[in-house]
Amino acid sequence: QKAEVRNSLALLYESIQNSSSPGLHFVQSRVQRMEQTWIQAGVNLSQRSNITISKKLRVLLYPGTLAGTLGQHFEAMVERGGPLGELVQWADLSAGLTVLGHDVTLTTSQHLVHRLIDAAPGRGSCPIQSPLTFDLIYTDYHGLAHLQGAMGIAFRHYNRDYKTLWGSWDLHPQQYMTMFPHTPDNSFLGFVTEEAGLKMKAVDGYKRENVAVVYAKQEYMWEGKHDYVKVISEEFETHATVYKRPGIPSQLPSFVINHGLLSQESFVQLLLRAKVFVGLGFPYEGPAPIEAIAMGCAFIQPRFNPPHSSKTTTFTKESRLLESVFLQVRLFTPREFTCEGMLERLRAYVTHQNFCSSSPPTWPPKSVLRLLLSPLGESCADVCRRSSLTCEPALFHHLNSASTFTSLELNCSSVEAEVNHLFPAYSPWGRQCHLQQEPLLFSCAGSDPSFRRLCPCRSFTPKQVALCPAVL
Ligand code: UDP
Repeated sequence: QKAEVRNSLALLYESIQNSSSPGLHFVQSRVQRMEQTWIQAGVNLSQRSNITISKKLRVLLYPGTLAGTLGQHFEAMVERGGPLGELVQWADLSAGLTVLGHDVTLTTSQHLVHRLIDAAPGRGSCPIQSPLTFDLIYTDYHGLAHLQGAMGIAFRHYNRDYKTLWGSWDLHPQQYMTMFPHTPDNSFLGFVTEEAGLKMKAVDGYKRENVAVVYAKQEYMWEGKHDYVKVISEEFETHATVYKRPGIPSQLPSFVINHGLLSQESFVQLLLRAKVFVGLGFPYEGPAPIEAIAMGCAFIQPRFNPPHSSKTTTFTKESRLLESVFLQVRLFTPREFTCEGMLERLRAYVTHQNFCSSSPPTWPPKSVLRLLLSPLGESCADVCRRSSLTCEPALFHHLNSASTFTSLELNCSSVEAEVNHLFPAYSPWGRQCHLQQEPLLFSCAGSDPSFRRLCPCRSFTPKQVALCPAVL
């Protein structure tokens, strides 16, 4: 059956089990708030003609962090400024898959997962047969441990036999879905940021004020940062959204207006009034800075290497200089963080990625490969980026052969296959040519002063690094 773009998210709301969970409540209210934008993005995507049709999949989303005993702890944190970034990503993944026409079950119930496994045909039979009635599963480390416990030997259907020192789950690096496109070795799934234009129109007499909002939801993040925030507060009315612990007096400086943890809607409204979003050095990153930039704020984040003291006078001068810069900031939402951008990426992954097959990947096709040889000590990620390309780990297998060295006019004295994440690579000392023996270790990221790496680069769609222009 074909996956057809949907114009409602009602099926997802039906599937969200266990609605007494604060975590799932956050997920559901986020999806509901953004429903119209998701649906419009689906319409836009389906009007494009150059997109491959995908098969309708049964997808299980199992955030293990919200399940079982650990789940109780995490759930309690949701209302106290705990990590909401994960929930943002679960919400957007579930909405995206539903709009794309897949059948999503989102659950945090360990019992339900056990029941699904026990009821599935093939339980206890050949381990090669899938023990779950799903085509695709998204989970986290805790969920993976639950699934392994529940499935026993049948879990082998989902992983590989290869054990390395680098990880114990035998997963392909591209099976890790990340929040930002840090390394091409993982799949950049991302999330979505709300769009400011509509919101601004909705507020009567909308005006941006001299307001700063601090990026830190918990008090410990403020330790040692009070002087820094003081400098900011001399220029801007400074607001915070730090969880207020009942019965415990706040340690925040008195010049800060603390709202306590806000609902996501109110937080975004606060950002719309502000000119600057102020990082304290930690957290390093998360959805909130992207939201702030989308709402037209400048985001500043101190660097601590070399250490930068907020007590220095130069910093005060810098802050005055920056104030005039903040006045010129425009709203900016990178396409990768819009509903349409996330939908096209997700659709490509769901259609083309296949981690169950033991044969080499066929997506993206070999035709997009641009082979480059790195200088000594440089990673493939850097080499490709310098040529305005990106490194594509799924193409490594095409160049993992002696003939590639010949095509680059490297005259090898020996060609050996070894288990090393830097390979395939060339060592000029002794003209040694090294091939990769373990495909799970193909990696864009590593570098070493003794090796020139063979790098599989490809071009990418403007504002969508995960995809090639030719292959959606
Ligand atoms: N957020 C919120 N209320 C607040 C502050 C933040 O709902 O008072 C939301 C914010 O909109 C963002 C999410 O929390 O989408 C995650 O925030 P952050 O970037 O701080 O990531 P985390 O550290 O929670 O993973």
